[in-house]
Amino acid sequence: MERIKNIPIKLTLFAFILSLYTLIAFHKPLLDLVLECVERDLNGWIIVGSIALLTLVVNFMVYYLLLYLCRLVGKIVIALTLIANATALYFVNTYEVLLTRDMMGNLFNTNVSEASGFLSFTPIIYVVLLGILPCIYLFKRKVEYGSLKRLFANVGVSIVAIAIIGVANMGNILWIDHNAPRVGSLFMPWSYIANTVRHFHHQAMINREEIPLPDAEIIDEEPKVCVLVIGESARRANFSLYGYERDTNPLLRGDSVKIYNAVASATSTTMAVKAILDHKPTGNKLYEILPNYLERNGVEVIWRSTNWGEPPLHVANRSNLAALRERYPDADARYDGILLEGLKEEIESATADKLLVVLHTSTSHGPTYNKKYPEAFERYVPVCTTVEMSKADHKELINAYDNTILYTDYLLHSIIEILGSVERNSAMIYISDHGESLGEGNIYMHGMVSASMAPREQLDIPFIVWQNGDNREVKELEEVGHYHVFHSVMDYLDIRSDIYDEEKSIFN
Ligand SMILES: [Zn+2]
Repeated sequence: MERIKNIPIKLTLFAFILSLYTLIAFHKPLLDLVLECVERDLNGWIIVGSIALLTLVVNFMVYYLLLYLCRLVGKIVIALTLIANATALYFVNTYEVLLTRDMMGNLFNTNVSEASGFLSFTPIIYVVLLGILPCIYLFKRKVEYGSLKRLFANVGVSIVAIAIIGVANMGNILWIDHNAPRVGSLFMPWSYIANTVRHFHHQAMINREEIPLPDAEIIDEEPKVCVLVIGESARRANFSLYGYERDTNPLLRGDSVKIYNAVASATSTTMAVKAILDHKPTGNKLYEILPNYLERNGVEVIWRSTNWGEPPLHVANRSNLAALRERYPDADARYDGILLEGLKEEIESATADKLLVVLHTSTSHGPTYNKKYPEAFERYVPVCTTVEMSKADHKELINAYDNTILYTDYLLHSIIEILGSVERNSAMIYISDHGESLGEGNIYMHGMVSASMAPREQLDIPFIVWQNGDNREVKELEEVGHYHVFHSVMDYLDIRSDIYDEEKSIFN
């Protein structure tokens, strides 16, 4: 027995075994996803086979190169990826997540209280069985590394195989273009490595010193408050205010609100929230965002969020979910109602003439829509409770989603009630960050592709305005967007500067 172990294994076979193991142990979610996205015909099976083969060949080639060129260091690197693969697989299986850039950001941004929820026994089993055990084999097995000639032969054959797979799928370009972000996000270990790098690169980009905007002037002393509510994944089509057949806005219906058709300029939360707070499309550049700009120029700003992904904030009075939980221990921290706790008192105790309140909500965020509203708002039943949206009953999925809109209706109405009871003139502007796909064309959620390629459901968002006191006249506009927020808020609060764009204000 000992002797058999000591016979060195050829590197070609060794790399193949490791790659085959990686395919079998870690790629069931990938193959399941691909199976969901293809027709069950010959071409569908070609796609499935190609992706399995591609995974096998790419990992074989990389393992071979790593081991040949780096020997023990190569083994250590592969061992680390096996352990990381096992951890990633646990997350994918348990939370039905894709390992996209946003998701890696989510993991790195998860605060300790949330992370402790992950520290159960199951991930340890994953890591030990799928990560550490194969590492024992990886380190114990003696390897015959072979010649440089064999290295070239193996890499050459791998590249030819990849090329053949590519040619065989020439006709599937559209399918690949459409599904690559999701499918690629389950390709281990490359998905999480690449997306972690992309996440930190993105963070570095947005954490740069922001470019200041020209100083602004407050042109009168009339006490006013503007509440900007940033919605999450709320799509226009499911608001009865916009003609949805279900009465999902029973409260707002009686609130004499003004509605606009808005189109999102991005489909991921991070990009969309930046756009809402920016004065114009700024690409990767970081200009002073609305709350930072207004606070610097004498406006009092309150920022409350149960969500994440906003650009760097320099507002003194800001509370994330953890802070709100601490401030209001009796409130139910599971729902966005916590954003309104003590808000009236906070508005009333403001001393500056102009007050901006930003509430960054999270209500319609999937996949578990049924967990985003209190029981009293479960009007449409039965609701989908699975996180596997594609396997959910479509009607149940819509029911759960519509209940989140019903809860949003309640939240906005509650804000209107609060504003109606304070001394200041007030306005509320509600806009969603982006819409949501609920199975149209087999697409779910949002943010998988850039805005230019995104389906309408992810782009068509509500923009709802309400005012109290000395109401400003509002414009009739066919379509508005994220960038109308900045200038409308400036206009409403009587703030002027060189970057103020009257065209982009909804007020006359
Ligand atoms: Zn979002």
